[in-house]
Amino acid sequence: MRVTYDVVVVGGSFGGLAAASQLRGSILIIDREPVGSGQRSACGTPLRVPMALGLGDSVLQVHERALFHLGSHSFELPGTEPFCTFDYEGFCQGLYALTSAEFVQASVRGVRAEGSERLIVSTSAGEFTARYVVDASGWSAVAASSLDSRVQPREGVGFGLETTVLHQGEGLRIWLDRGLHPGRLGWLFPSGDHSRAGLASYTGDGVKGQRVAEFALSFGPAAPSLHGGFFPLRLRRPVVGPLFVVGDSAGHCMPLTAEGIRPAIYFGQQCGALLQLVLDEKLALAQAQSTYRQLHDSCRPYYRWLLQHQNWTTRLPGALLAAVMKVAKMTGQSERILRRYCAMMPITPAYETECDVGDGRRLAPAGIPHGLR
Ligand SMILES: Cc1cc2nc3c(=O)[nH]c(=O)nc-3n(C[C@H](O)[C@H](O)[C@H](O)COP(=O)(O)OP(=O)(O)OC[C@H]3O[C@@H](n4cnc5c(N)ncnc54)[C@H](O)[C@@H]3O)c2cc1C
Repeated sequence: MRVTYDVVVVGGSFGGLAAASQLRGSILIIDREPVGSGQRSACGTPLRVPMALGLGDSVLQVHERALFHLGSHSFELPGTEPFCTFDYEGFCQGLYALTSAEFVQASVRGVRAEGSERLIVSTSAGEFTARYVVDASGWSAVAASSLDSRVQPREGVGFGLETTVLHQGEGLRIWLDRGLHPGRLGWLFPSGDHSRAGLASYTGDGVKGQRVAEFALSFGPAAPSLHGGFFPLRLRRPVVGPLFVVGDSAGHCMPLTAEGIRPAIYFGQQCGALLQLVLDEKLALAQAQSTYRQLHDSCRPYYRWLLQHQNWTTRLPGALLAAVMKVAKMTGQSERILRRYCAMMPITPAYETECDVGDGRRLAPAGIPHGLR
């Protein structure tokens, strides 16, 4: 007879691991790649994210400032709080060590309901049964889109590619420059003994591997391989049928900044903590879904604001954008905006008290969902 897991988490990256870190019981994470392989992003995030999770060892470099290149103009933003670049493998493995979950490497094909109590997750390694399922499979939302065809993963996505370059520097560098490539967005994120250089487009097209390689090579010898992919720029649904949806699957990557790691972890933790209350029979499933939906919806005005600013900043000529940013800096507006931006989505800290789960892994305690504080 098949085991019924309490929760199956589809996707073992930021969102999925964060959700699992808040769950006890029989939890299974399914990912097509081993935990910590398959880096897709430049791994830049506020320093407090890895620090809150006790993952300071994964930090490669701390950045106190960001330098924007807008056409021929450059503009420096003082950091209102430090950002960092981190090692994806070390970060994910550290986050996995905070869970008590089993891991299966398989490609998920879809989810179907069996009666009213069980969900079947169909994968390349067979079927798995669960009481609850979290879709954290990234932009493709493989579980949610298999249950509801109205989830259209390719709508409202950006696309980015990056590579590693032998270049050392300080500060995050960001290009918003149509002269660079049609998609306009570029970055150079120093990460200790190397940097991550990439190009992205807010419209999901116009990023060519050849151009990324040329951009990277302008800073030093670059690795021949590229990584990256799509990232959503629109909020989607946080609950699809019986599924909880977190991270890029739910469109949690923020427009304008394309920062998706902190939101995936934040929403993952909140979702996991709510589901744990359901497992503990302290909360009905419908109540947990409604609280999670409210949390997601409470961020809508902010995501709308970021999208509006993405729309005009990506159209404005570089010189005009530089002038607007200069005024915003002089009047203190940019600092106020940045402070608010950085204060969003607080990460639940991992406890210092550790619980041995038998194989040397540490257990973090369940956090208290935001909506229930
Ligand atoms: C080029 C680029 C650079 C970026 N840089 C940054 C940055 O510096 N900072 C930042 O905050 N954000 C950045 N982002 C955005 C960020 O990467 C995402 O928002 C973030 O990774 C979302 O986390 P997630 O856990 O929701 O999804 P993902 O990290 O995409 O993880 C999804 C997981 O699901 C697995 N999966 C997918 N389909 C299946 C399947 N069918 N079966 C089994 N497993 C599956 C994948 O293998 C993966 O492990 C960048 C994005 C791109 C494309």
